[in-house]
Amino acid sequence: MADFATEKLRARKQIGFRLNLVLLGVLCFYLIITAYSVFILWQQSEEFKHLTNTQFERAIHAAELSRDAEQITSQALEKMIVQDYNNTYYQSLSNTPRKLFDSIRNKLYATTDKEKTILDEIDNITTPYFSTLKILDHYLLREEELTKKKSSISNGLSHLQESISSAGHNTPQQQYFNNLFLNAINITLLSQNSVKRGELQAQKNAISGLLAKMYYLDNLSSAQSSLLDQLFQTAQFAFSTKTQFQNQHLATLSAIRKTRQQAQRLSAASYDFYLLLKIATLDSTQKHDALIRDVITNIVLFSCAFLVLTAFAYWFIRHYLIFRLNRLNNTMLQHVKGVKAPIPQSGEDEIALMGKAFSVFVEATEQAKRDSITARKEVEDANLKLLQLNQSLQTLSHTDDLTQLSNRRFFFKKFTEYWKKASIEQHDISLIMIDLDWFKQFNDHYGHQAGDKCLIEIAQILKTDSEAVGGLAARYGGEEFIILLPNIDRMRAMTFAKHLRRKVGEADISHEASNTGRVTLSIGVATHQPKPGDDLDKLIYLADQTLYEAKKSGRDQVLEFVES
Ligand code: GH3
Ligand code: MG
Ligand code: MG
Repeated sequence: MADFATEKLRARKQIGFRLNLVLLGVLCFYLIITAYSVFILWQQSEEFKHLTNTQFERAIHAAELSRDAEQITSQALEKMIVQDYNNTYYQSLSNTPRKLFDSIRNKLYATTDKEKTILDEIDNITTPYFSTLKILDHYLLREEELTKKKSSISNGLSHLQESISSAGHNTPQQQYFNNLFLNAINITLLSQNSVKRGELQAQKNAISGLLAKMYYLDNLSSAQSSLLDQLFQTAQFAFSTKTQFQNQHLATLSAIRKTRQQAQRLSAASYDFYLLLKIATLDSTQKHDALIRDVITNIVLFSCAFLVLTAFAYWFIRHYLIFRLNRLNNTMLQHVKGVKAPIPQSGEDEIALMGKAFSVFVEATEQAKRDSITARKEVEDANLKLLQLNQSLQTLSHTDDLTQLSNRRFFFKKFTEYWKKASIEQHDISLIMIDLDWFKQFNDHYGHQAGDKCLIEIAQILKTDSEAVGGLAARYGGEEFIILLPNIDRMRAMTFAKHLRRKVGEADISHEASNTGRVTLSIGVATHQPKPGDDLDKLIYLADQTLYEAKKSGRDQVLEFVES
């Protein structure tokens, strides 16, 4: 019993420890699942990022398309304005930019109907745009050629100016010619920069007039004629080139306008495509972000709820199971040690039932203890009564009913014992045999009841006095008594016998039927120091014989047996 009461449970064997292990397992499982979910989410997010990047790439390509369309046109315009035709990039507008444009266009693809419509529009505009651009390219080349011509005209005019400056101007005719010549050169030079159409015509007319004046001058020298012819040809070439240039410039402007319009359409379409992709990408990014946010929020909320639930389960197990089980266990152990601690029984669950059952058990045990104490007490009482009964039975079996003296059986028992003892210890043992005289007559005279009363009275005297000398008085039969006197010699026995006869005489019990007038005793005394093997009946016999002698000799006397 003490073993399990004092034994401390090993931690890993305890229910609480095991339940906590289960909880820990569930928590770990949940964490693994959550980590796996987050991993999957991260993977999806990465995939989505890749998709979004692709979408953005497409959007950027569309933006590039839009930019290129604009840029190509702008640069063409710029070229025309600054009249810088030496940039090789523009020397073949329809080749390199087209290739560049197509390479970007080829990267674009439609994923929705709306995207397809816009891409189709881009494709529909692309070909006419580049055709117009090719024409513009051609026109610009023409303008370049014409500009070169204009340059050579300027050079020619400069050369003529130098020639006329170095020519003679001594005569008035020479001076007049030279003035007209220089004037014509200046007007021709001016005409090259004139912008208005009417102005060019006026300059042309002025030149014609000046030339006519010079041709009609008298005395034209051959040098002057030659210079005049050169001026005429140069002026003619200059005006024709300028007219061509002006026409060409108008055509170029028209081509640029057209190109620009198409570029704007292309750019607008590309931009639309870009916007479409951007909006779709942003939209799906926002949706994806919202989804991720929702999922993460849900995971966090679920984790919090799970942690709270786990904590609650932990608290519940501790509070409702472990704590109560330990309390019940401790209470049981205290009861085992004998301390009557109150037994926890509150609640309606299995532990409360265990407490109630244990309480019933304790109550039953205590009742059993009480019953056992009562039973033991009853047994003890019964034993005592039995003992008393036995004692009284024993007394009864040893005692004479009427006189309350020892009976004849008890006398023999004691006589045998003392006989043995006397034979061992070598001392005397005496017997006094007593018989009431004329007792039949007493009965006859006074009645049997009075006889009984007389017997009782005499017995009392015998008993008291015998016990006083360490002897044992017994009723031997009828009105006969015997007194056992262990370790009392013959002399003392005789003295005591005589004392008894005297005492009964002094009691003065009336006996009218006797000639003495009172109850008297006849007594026979016999003494012997027994030896081993001696017959104790013989001493009784001798005492009895002595009594018989006393009767015969007249009664109311004490005789002793004398060995002859
Ligand atoms: P003796 O002097 O020769 O002894 O004469 P006795 O009459 O005493 O002797 P006997 O033997 O003839 O008579 C004994 C009488 O004792 C007979 C009987 O009535 C009486 N007796 C014996 N036992 C009892 C008894 O218990 N109660 C009464 N009342 N009398 C008894
Ligand atoms: Mg007798
Ligand atoms: Mg008698």
